[in-house]
Order: sequence, then C-alpha cells, then structure tokens
Amino acid sequence: MDAQLATRIRALRSSLDAACRACQRDPAEVLLVAVSKGHPADAVRSAARTGLEHFGESYVQEALPKLARLADMELQWHFIGRLQANKTRAVAEHFHWVHGVDQLKLAQRLSAQRPHYAPPLNVCIQVNIAGEAQKAGVAPGQLEALAHAVHDLPGLRLRGLMGILPAGLQTPRRRALFGQIAALAARLRRGGLPLDTLSMGMSDDYEDAIVAGATIVRIGTALFGTRI
Ligand SMILES: *Cc1c(COP(=O)(O)O)cnc(C)c1O
Repeated sequence: MDAQLATRIRALRSSLDAACRACQRDPAEVLLVAVSKGHPADAVRSAARTGLEHFGESYVQEALPKLARLADMELQWHFIGRLQANKTRAVAEHFHWVHGVDQLKLAQRLSAQRPHYAPPLNVCIQVNIAGEAQKAGVAPGQLEALAHAVHDLPGLRLRGLMGILPAGLQTPRRRALFGQIAALAARLRRGGLPLDTLSMGMSDDYEDAIVAGATIVRIGTALFGTRI
C-alpha cells in the first residue's frame, strides 16, 4: 500500500492519542472519520486496510460511485456535506450517518426515505455556532425545537451535534466555540435527549475540539493530503 498514507495514518493516530492524553480523555472515546472527498476509491481501500472503518464524503455525485466500488468492504459512510432536498434519497439509502441536518424539512425527507430494511440513519444536527451568514447550521436559539422534532422522527437516530468553525481562529477562541457546542448538547441531554456525539474538529483544529469534548473528528487533509 501507499507508504505515505500509512505514515500519515500512524502520525495522526499518535497525535489524536496525545491530544486525548493531554486532557485526560480516553482515545477510545474519539472516533476518526477519514474524509475521503477529492480522493479516489483506491485511497479509501488502502486506508481501510490499515483498519479505518469510517469515511466521510461531502458530495453525493462523487460519493455514490466510490461507495459502489467499495461495497465489498464493510465501511461506515458519513455524509458531511451540505444536504440538498433533491439528494436526500441517495443519502438515506446509501449512508450510515448524516452530519449536516439543519432543517426539519430535510430531516423529514430523510426519515421518509430511509429504507425499512436499514437500521436507523444516525443524525447530527449542525449548529451555526459562530453565527456566520454564509454557513449552514441551525442558530443556537432554534436548536432545541429542531432537536426534539428530529428525535421524534422514525427511521432516524439523533446522535448529537456537529459544528464547523470559521477559518483562522486562535486556540482560545476555538476552544470557546467548541465548548459552546458541547454546552448546547449538555443542555439538550438535560432536557431528555439521549445524545452521545459531538462531531467537531478537522485537520486544522481537532486538538482544540478534543479538549472541548469531541467524540468524532472529521479529518481529510492530514490523512490523504491536499485535495485537487
Ligand atoms: C472537507 C471537510 C472536512 C475535512 O477537512 P480537512 O481540513 O481536510 O481535514 C471535515 N468536515 C467537513 C464538513 C468537511 O467538509
């Protein structure tokens, strides 16, 4: 297999372990989702042979042929892109997780379109934590109503929250924002929702996300190199 990929995977694993140890967390609590968008199915196959099982894709059209080529491997596929109404069926039929749910209408479509033979689709609600006008995600003030409504939909299993920070922030600000997402999840749990997932942290900010309690990090560049 690709020696460079193997080296990057090892380096990332030890960096994730070190980040967990530095804040007294068990590395087993943090799931690595390898973001393979922009990289071919062969790269996923190589990564999977080293033991990675969870992969993330952002574009349905790019993902479907890749999933088909890798159907012989038992991989867990996470849809992490912006969800469009005309793509919900493909996501509901082919993925195991969706991280970017931010509207009830989209969740209702996923619920109706999830095949009956499949286990519930794991869902994270995306929160627009920095209030960026152009970014997807529900505003924190609207989160509670959306979370309860999604929780009640058949065919879906609400797992937790997802967030993406603006680029270019320093560590204190990143930790504060990731911490706000964690606090929102804690409040929903106190309100009775059984959430177990905080999907936050990418190649540039996963260490700060882990400090703030991330249970899923979504990492592309640090694993597969620069996307074309
Ligand atoms: C592309 C992408 C990632 C991975 O980003 P890297 O910086 O390459 O690690 C993670 N999450 C989402 C939502 C993405 O779109």
